[in-house]
Amino acid sequence: MTSTTSGTEPAPSGEPEQVRLRAALGRLPAYVPGKAAAPGPGLTAYKVSSNENPFPPLASVLEVIAATAGSINRYPDMAVRDLTAAIATAVGVAPENIATGNGSVAVLSHIIMATCDAGDEVVHAWRSFEAYPIVVALAGAESVPVGLDLDARHRLDAMAAAVTERTKVVIVCSPNNPTGTTVRRGELETFLDAVPPHVLVVLDEAYVEFVTDPEAPDAMAVWRSRPNVLVLRTFSKAYGLAGLRVGYAVAHPRVAAALRQTATPFGVSSIAQSAAIASLSAFGELERRVEALVAERSRVAGALEEQGWKLPESQANFVWFPLGTDSGAFVEACEAAGLVVRRYGDDGVRVTIGETEANDRLLEVAAAFGAR
Ligand SMILES: *Cc1c(COP(=O)(O)O)cnc(C)c1O
Repeated sequence: MTSTTSGTEPAPSGEPEQVRLRAALGRLPAYVPGKAAAPGPGLTAYKVSSNENPFPPLASVLEVIAATAGSINRYPDMAVRDLTAAIATAVGVAPENIATGNGSVAVLSHIIMATCDAGDEVVHAWRSFEAYPIVVALAGAESVPVGLDLDARHRLDAMAAAVTERTKVVIVCSPNNPTGTTVRRGELETFLDAVPPHVLVVLDEAYVEFVTDPEAPDAMAVWRSRPNVLVLRTFSKAYGLAGLRVGYAVAHPRVAAALRQTATPFGVSSIAQSAAIASLSAFGELERRVEALVAERSRVAGALEEQGWKLPESQANFVWFPLGTDSGAFVEACEAAGLVVRRYGDDGVRVTIGETEANDRLLEVAAAFGAR
């Protein structure tokens, strides 16, 4: 490697401090990624901290990925034409209603960029997905967090009441990460009636494939009847493509076009595009895996209830233990049993429904810890 300065020369002192960075960066909450599983002595470790799909990729998807790898010297299709068409067909809308991105977190940041100027407000529940306040702050907008109720559910009435002149977006996360609860059909309609039509309501449905509650809303029906609603979905969870980063919005044409304007050009790689198309084609096979995870969720929830635990009903691929100040002790007990779980300060602990062995171990830890 050649350089105009000698490699041994120290960097001019103080130089980094002269670069002016945005003050917003200093106020950002840290996004805590799930730790890698560290195998203990004689114990397989399981990472059940990131809501990933525990099944390995489908052979048919791996084949498509290998085939696409041969053309990575070329840029991906910037218009994401084939994947957009495949998603549109799968959800029953026109291609103009779909906007894609590097995971739905990226799509969310396109949404905020397309709607918020400095100081504008984004209302969302809390606790909810920890990316929300980060994405909002990075766009120079203000988060307006609205506390969950005692059952760890969204308080949609309070969220509607939190809307001001400055509100541009309200995010409804259903099922809610990290508590697993869904909003109900009727309360969502009442909420949408109360939100002004110029405010964009984002229904974040990252876990929709795991929902079995008949009271849960049909987001696509809601979307069809409401011009200010957007549905946000991902290939990271049920589809098992977390490592490839693909998510999408179903939006009305003007909003969808704005999301394409604010998206990173060529953001979704050719491998991600082709793997997502192949996954949509293989949905039947993936659905059986989702059903197996839902069956495991029921088994775990039932066993925890028998142990005496009172937990919110999860409609996602994880369970929430609202442990308060016992959260740290529970995390330690899980780690001693080879389970890497996700702690949310002194609010609680989220554990992903993973391999059967991991779920069994969670039940053992929970029994020994003592129900509360
Ligand atoms: C996991 C998750 C996402 C999806 O993130 P990707 O960027 O698509 O991987 C979005 N919203 C919520 C609430 C999530 O939990």
